[in-house]
Formats: sequence, C-alpha cells, structure tokens
Amino acid sequence: MSPSQTDPAQLAVANVRSLSPYVPGKPIEELQRELGLTDIIKLASNENPFGPSPRALEAMRRALEDTWLYPDGSGHELKQRLAARLGVSATQITLGNGSNDVLVLLAQAFLQPGLEAICSQYAFAVYPIAIQAAGAITVVTPATPAHSAMPLGHDLDAMARSITPRTRLVFIANPNNPTGTWVPAADLRAFIARVPEHALVVLDEAYFEYRGAMDIQDGIPWLAEFPNLVVVRTFSKAYGLAGVRVGYAVSDPRVADMLNRVRQAFNVSVVGLAGAAAALADEAHLEHAVGVAIRERDRVAAQLGRLGTQALPSAGNFLLLHAGANARDRFDRLLRQGIIVRPVGNYLLPEHLRVTLGTVEQNDRFLRAWETC
Ligand code: PMP
Repeated sequence: MSPSQTDPAQLAVANVRSLSPYVPGKPIEELQRELGLTDIIKLASNENPFGPSPRALEAMRRALEDTWLYPDGSGHELKQRLAARLGVSATQITLGNGSNDVLVLLAQAFLQPGLEAICSQYAFAVYPIAIQAAGAITVVTPATPAHSAMPLGHDLDAMARSITPRTRLVFIANPNNPTGTWVPAADLRAFIARVPEHALVVLDEAYFEYRGAMDIQDGIPWLAEFPNLVVVRTFSKAYGLAGVRVGYAVSDPRVADMLNRVRQAFNVSVVGLAGAAAALADEAHLEHAVGVAIRERDRVAAQLGRLGTQALPSAGNFLLLHAGANARDRFDRLLRQGIIVRPVGNYLLPEHLRVTLGTVEQNDRFLRAWETC
C-alpha cells in the first residue's frame, strides 16, 4: 500500500483504535432537527433542571467582560473558597474542565502500559475510556447481583480481590451513574483501609449532594488518614453548571502536585471559575434543587412501581428503570413525545433506561408518557 492509500486512522495507537467513544445524551437541538418538535424536555444527562444560582449567572455575565484574558491558571479564588468550604488546604485541590477532566488527569499521571486500574461493571463509562487512553489495563469487577438489596452496584470485596502489584487506580463512584447505587459508609471505609499504598482510591462523588438520608460518607474527612485517597466532585450536577465545565479533585497535596503537572495551564475558563465561585455562596439555591430531586426520586420511583416498572435504589438525581425487552422502543416512543431519556445499551444494560429527575411538572409529563408508551 502506498502512503497515500494508508488509512490515517490506522496510525493511531492501538489502545485508541480499540476505544469505544463515550455516548452522550441526545441534545435537545438534535431532536428538534430530527422530529421538528418544539416542546422538548431532556431528562438524559443528569443535569439540574433549576439551572445555576442567579448569583452564579450574574457572576458569569460579569466575567464575560474578561474573556479576552486568559483565566487565572491557578484558579486561586475558587480554590480558596473551596478550601474554606471543605476544610482542606488549597494545595489539596486540583481544578478540572468538569470532573471528567480530573479523571483523565488521574489516568494520565498514574497509569501507563503495563499498569492496571479497577472499576466495577456498570460504573461510569468514562473510567475505562480514561484508563485505556493511557494505555493501561482496565480490570472490571462483577457488579452485585441484580436481585440483591443493592442491585448492579459495586462489589467492594471483588474490587479488593482484584488489586495486584500493578494496580494504580481503583475507581469508586458513590453514588454511581448510571445505576444510582452506593456503598455503605462503613464498608467503604474498611475497603479504603484494605487498599495497599501503591494504589490510589478515586472516590467519585459527582452526585454526593443528592445523598439525602442514604448511608453515604463524605470522603473528604478521610483524606487526612488515607494519603492514597482522591475525592472527585463537580459543579455540573447539584450546582447546575454542566455547561461551563468545572470539577475538582481533593487529595494529598503530593497527588495534587502530580495532577497539576499534566493539567493544561488554562483548563478552567474565566466564566467557569467565576460561576463556580459564586455558586458556592448560594446554599439556598443548592438546597432547593437537591430537595426537589430527593423528593421526586421517591415519588417518581413509587409511581413507576404502581405502573409496573421497577426503579433501582438511587442516591443520585436520576433513576435507572428496568424497562424490559422493548426498552429501545419505549425510548423512541418517548422521543416522539418530546421526552429525551438515556438508553444504557453501551453499559450492556439493553433492558434499562435512565431518567434524570426534572421539575415536578417535567416528571409528571414523563410519568404520563411512560404510562402510554
Ligand atoms: N462522574 C460521574 C459519576 C458522572 O456521572 C459524571 C457525568 N455524567 C462525571 C463524573 C463527569 O461530570 P463532569 O465532567 O460534568 O463533572
């Protein structure tokens, strides 16, 4: 084959060629284009239907004036506010372009070919992508059984048993997306204590704010005790800032130092930094959004149960539904009614659909549509 006939994609490294890309929720504009619908609700990406705090909006509008300048690459102001809020030192914080960025930084800094990272079956899809992109091996442990008290969740014993001398990262999503499942606080603590020093535990708390009365531990107070623990959080969910992309890791300062070596200097935008800092100050807005999601989680799950659909236990702002063999058809029928939910076939859960909890009105519309589709 002459060079001009070479498929340039074949020049990509093998671990990238064999990657399956992340499948995002269907954007509203796409459904508008496809079906010509106008009245669309998106319950597909675990966004917060109440949006950002008015204070964050105001701060972001003001920040637009400064967008000709590069952002503060150290994120000083936001880190100071986070440090004060979380009771940690600013040197423990690494800011990311969403928490997705932080997950990728962890893989870049701590993995390479020949090393391994562990995640659970049905855990958040970005983990295996980040691991494989770094050339490392993804070790997937089987989920807890479908008919257990916490179906399709993380099996911490199986994860602990999978640790080898080559393991560098162990990903725990607490609660997990797309299942909504969580690991009880005492079990998680015992697990972290068992993980040897040569592996970091990445505790992804993207949905932490929605835990309500569930037995979910805040990992941050444990950082002092476990230098190999990394807690990852985001402004995308409860703070309603998914579109501006701000997340962060809290870790031992020596781990943060490593993450900052691979981090792009300006990975969080001027608008994102301003919005996140202001959002932190508006606790009432956060509490309202979280309160509605928690109440709706129970109400929607109970109503679905009456309609004969089982929802998995969830500590997030979403429910994973067992929709049955015709899940894909139901997804399509919902689309035609202007409701976007999330198929999870990419997680090898073809009979399930994930629905984000919206406002009471949006959830009612979803429930009415579900009854007929
Ligand atoms: N972790 C989990 C468990 C998630 O569900 C998500 C978003 N779907 C993320 C991390 C990444 O979110 P973001 O990059 O917007 O912070």
